[in-house]
Amino acid sequence: MSEAREEYVLEAAREYAEAVIRPQAGQFDRQESLPREVIDGLASRGLLGAAIPAEYGGLGLDPLRYGALTEIIGKACCSTRALLTVHTSLVGETLVRLGTQAQRERFLPDMARGSRIACFALSEPGVGTDATSVTTSSRKQGDVYVLNGRKKWISFAAIADLFLVFASDGDKVSAFLAERSMPGLSVKPMSGLLGNRAAHMAEVIFENVEVPAENMVGRPGTGFSFVANTALFYGRYSIAWAGVAIGQAALEEMVGYAREREQFGRKIGEFQLIQGIIADSVTRVHAARALCERSGRMRLSGDDDAVMEVNIAKYFSSKTALQVASDAVQVFGGNGCWNEYPVERLFRESKILEIIEGTSQVQQVMIAGHGMRKYRRP
Ligand SMILES: Cc1cc2nc3c(=O)[nH]c(=O)nc-3n(C[C@H](O)[C@H](O)[C@H](O)COP(=O)(O)OP(=O)(O)OC[C@H]3O[C@@H](n4cnc5c(N)ncnc54)[C@H](O)[C@@H]3O)c2cc1C
Repeated sequence: MSEAREEYVLEAAREYAEAVIRPQAGQFDRQESLPREVIDGLASRGLLGAAIPAEYGGLGLDPLRYGALTEIIGKACCSTRALLTVHTSLVGETLVRLGTQAQRERFLPDMARGSRIACFALSEPGVGTDATSVTTSSRKQGDVYVLNGRKKWISFAAIADLFLVFASDGDKVSAFLAERSMPGLSVKPMSGLLGNRAAHMAEVIFENVEVPAENMVGRPGTGFSFVANTALFYGRYSIAWAGVAIGQAALEEMVGYAREREQFGRKIGEFQLIQGIIADSVTRVHAARALCERSGRMRLSGDDDAVMEVNIAKYFSSKTALQVASDAVQVFGGNGCWNEYPVERLFRESKILEIIEGTSQVQQVMIAGHGMRKYRRP
């Protein structure tokens, strides 16, 4: 796609996000669901296939432009952005990279046009960070694998048609594409979440679900080491940009409020302590965006350190989102604690980013290991 066309796609996404998604984000949060019209609105603009190559019906945006798109959508609504993270990044980009030709041809065009919604089913009630210990089981029986077990915290599972699911044969973990229509697969929607409330979260139950052997992604036993890690690389990149999106949204809200709200006969933005908060927020958001862009450029050039740079961007950006959203609540005072103002929601949403796609502690462990190797004296 030409550069001009890519810019046009981003501009159309921005117009849709600002005119349609952002004004309704509070409503989506309250009703705990994303209307089908919005999913169709993203699909009709090609955005659900944004990172999928044109040969499979996608837009084929490069990582930098896909990052910019994630910021645009994430600034408008975190749950809507979560659909991009899960459907397009975690599943779509992973299938582009690791799927067989048959899997790519069968699933990616439907995903790009939004006629199949995909979700990523790794976590379980008792298994989170230590994802190599998944208890969902897979048993080879002729030319099918029989899956049994329960997944939890699966974004968009309640409405998904396709599940990238991870199961163990008792020794090693493999990855499979399960379909909603397969007998024995059911979902149980989850409610009452801190954030991502409109992301159709559900538990997924597998009771003797027979998945054809050709639906395995990657080779047997490489489900965690290869498939989940690849997916999480794409997912973390998306979450890094999601942090920039929340930080930018919170910053714009706090500046708008500081310019209007008066106390002691002056706009609160004239008080130096409020200016200090704004200065720190501007700096943090710029720094987070710079890290995201750097990791995007490294992805684009095929740099071996791109994986670690994405971890660094995700770690920093999610902390930035939480800090800036918290500071925005502070600038809004009592109004910041009320759901009539968007910063209350941004604050809740920002905390989620420190938990998903590897917690902040996991990022620290990985970044520290990298730092200990890379920065030792010769
Ligand atoms: C809104 C939301 C959406 C989600 N969407 C999905 C999804 O689509 N698909 C999916 O599979 N999962 C999803 N999850 C699950 C998410 O990936 C997990 O919550 C996350 O991986 C953490 O696992 P856990 O909650 O079991 O925490 P635990 O692993 O139990 O961790 C608890 C605490 O211990 C810390 N900890 C754990 N191990 C270590 C260690 N080695 N060193 C230091 N500290 C450690 C953690 O950092 C954390 O602070 C979602 C979760 C949320 C909240």
